[in-house]
Amino acid sequence: MNNKKQEIIKHSTAHILATAVLEMFPEAKFGTGPATEEGFYYDFDLPRTLIPEDLPLLEEKMRAVIKADHSFEKEEISTENATKHFEKANQTYKLEIIKDLQNEGNKNVTIYKTGNFVDLCSGPHIDSTGEINSQSFKLTKISGAYWRANEKNKQMQRIYGVVFENKKELEEYLENQEKAKERDHRKLGKELDLFCFSDLIGPGLPLFTPKGTIIKDELQKHIEEVCRKYGFQKVSAPSLAKVELFEISGHAKKFGDELFHVTSKKEHDFVLKPVQCPHHTQIYASKTRSYRDLPIRYMESDKQYRAEKTGEVGGLSRVYAITVEDGHSFCTANQVKDEIKNMINIIKDFYGALGLWGNHWVSLSVRDYAHPEKYIGDEKDWNQCEKILEEISDEMKLGAKRCEGEAALYGPKLDFMFKDALGKEIQIPTVQIDFATPKRFNLEYTNEKGEKIPPVMVHRAILGSYERFLVLLIEHFAGAFPLWLSPVQVKIIPISEKFEDYAKEVEQKLLENNIRVEMSFESESLGKRIAEAEKQKIPYMLVVGEKECEAKTVAIRKRGEKKQEVLPLEEFAEKIKKEIEGKK
Ligand SMILES: [Zn+2]
Ligand SMILES: [Zn+2]
Repeated sequence: MNNKKQEIIKHSTAHILATAVLEMFPEAKFGTGPATEEGFYYDFDLPRTLIPEDLPLLEEKMRAVIKADHSFEKEEISTENATKHFEKANQTYKLEIIKDLQNEGNKNVTIYKTGNFVDLCSGPHIDSTGEINSQSFKLTKISGAYWRANEKNKQMQRIYGVVFENKKELEEYLENQEKAKERDHRKLGKELDLFCFSDLIGPGLPLFTPKGTIIKDELQKHIEEVCRKYGFQKVSAPSLAKVELFEISGHAKKFGDELFHVTSKKEHDFVLKPVQCPHHTQIYASKTRSYRDLPIRYMESDKQYRAEKTGEVGGLSRVYAITVEDGHSFCTANQVKDEIKNMINIIKDFYGALGLWGNHWVSLSVRDYAHPEKYIGDEKDWNQCEKILEEISDEMKLGAKRCEGEAALYGPKLDFMFKDALGKEIQIPTVQIDFATPKRFNLEYTNEKGEKIPPVMVHRAILGSYERFLVLLIEHFAGAFPLWLSPVQVKIIPISEKFEDYAKEVEQKLLENNIRVEMSFESESLGKRIAEAEKQKIPYMLVVGEKECEAKTVAIRKRGEKKQEVLPLEEFAEKIKKEIEGKK
C-alpha cells in the first residue's frame, strides 16, 4: 500500500469511528480526526468519560457502519450554509473551524456524509465504508487532548486506532506492539539492573549501575579502538566553559534556555557544555598549525548538558545529562572528502560489529532554503558542502536521500538511520561539514604558499550518546547482548554446596582470563537458579557437579540453546576468550 492510499484509509476510518461515536452519544461534539504515522485518532467532547470497555463496543458499531457500506457523499456548500448546518447540530468546534476558514477568505467548504454523520472535511476519502476490511482495524487507546492543543481550551477525549489492509497485517502490528512492550528499555533496564533514577538526584539524571557501566565502558573501549585505527586521538575537556565560548560558536543562541548556567562568585558565569565542538576548537588553537599537520582528529566521550523537557519518566531517551561520543577533524578543503569517507568507514566498522550495517538508509540533510536565517555561514560554502556530500554518496554508493530543512546549524550533513529488530527507525551516526565554526574562532593553519587560512571542521558522531545507544541496544537485542557487551558473561552454577570449591576453581580460571563471571550459590533449587540466569540473559551457564569436578570439565549451556556441551575447563576458557576478542 502506498503512503497516500494508506493515509486515505486511516483518515476514512476516523470518520467511521466518528459515525459510531455519534450513534453511541447523539449529543457528541466533534473535534478533528486526522491520520497519523501509526494510524488515526478523533477528538470528541462527550457527556461522560470513556472507559476501556467502550472501545470494543465502538468497534462493533464501526463494523456495522462498514457492513452498511455507506458512501462518503461529498458536497461543496457556502460557508453560510455550513454555519447554519453545524449551528443546528450544535457542533461548536466545527463552527470555530468554519469561522477560521471564512477569515482566510474561503467562500465554500466541503462536507462529507457517511450514514448519519456529517463532517466538515477537505478529504480525500475512500468511496464507501465497505472498502475497509472489518477485521483489520482496532481502537488502541483513549487519552485526553486539549482542543487545538491549547491548554486554555477544553480538554476533549481522543480515541486512537490503527487500520490495515488485511487481518494479517493487523495481527503482525499487534504482535509487534506486544514484543515492543517486552523489550521496553525501562522494563528491561530494571530487570537486568542496568540503570536507575533517584528523586534526590532528580528526574532526567540517570545513574548507571555496575552492570550498566560495564556496557558503557565496553562500548567506549570499542569505539575508541575503531577510531584510533582511523587516526583519531583522544582528548579531554572540562564540563564548564565561559558563556562567551558558546556565544561565539552560536550555541548560546541556538539552545537558549536549554543551557544550564553555573554561577558562584561574582566573576563566575559559566555554562555546562551542551556540545563538545567549541572546546575542541580551543585545543586546535593552542598551537600554530601547518598544512603538514592536517588533518587533526580529536575524539572524546564526555557528559553534555541540556535542559530538555523530560518527556518519559524513568527512561533514558530524554535526559538532562548525556554522555556523548563526539569527534572532530580539522582539515584542508582538499581533504574534506577523504575525511568524510574515513568517518563513514568508521560507522561501517562499528555498526557492522553489531550486525546493524546494511539495515539502514542515509539522509543527505540540507538547508531549509526558505529560512536561511536559521543557519550560520556563507551561502557559497553551503553550496560547496552540499555538493561534496552528494559526490560522496555517489562514490560510496550510499544512495542518500535529500532531506530539506534537516541540516545542522553550521552545515549540511549525512545522517544514518538504522532499523532495530522490531523495525523501529533510529537516527544516530552523522557526519557534518562546517566551514563556519573555524572562522568564528579565528582558527588557522599555514598553507603551502605560506598564507594563514582557516581549516575546515568536520563533525562526526558514531554512537551518539551512550544513554540513547543503550536504549537501542536493549530494545534491539531484547536484553540478550552480544557476549562481549554482556555485563555477566558466564554464570557458574554448582549443583550443590558440595561442589562449591570446584566452582570457585572454575571462577578463578575465568577471572584470570578477564572473563566476567558470577557465581550462583545454593540458596535456591537448581532449576530456579538456571531459570534466573536465563531471565538475566547471561550468554553462558556452567553447571558443575560430581562428574565435572572429577574430570575438571564444565557442562555448558549456551543462551537460547537447549543442548548441553561438556568441555575441559581449560578449553572452555580459551574458546570463550577468543569469542569475546572477536566480538562475535
Ligand atoms: Zn475527512
Ligand atoms: Zn561537533
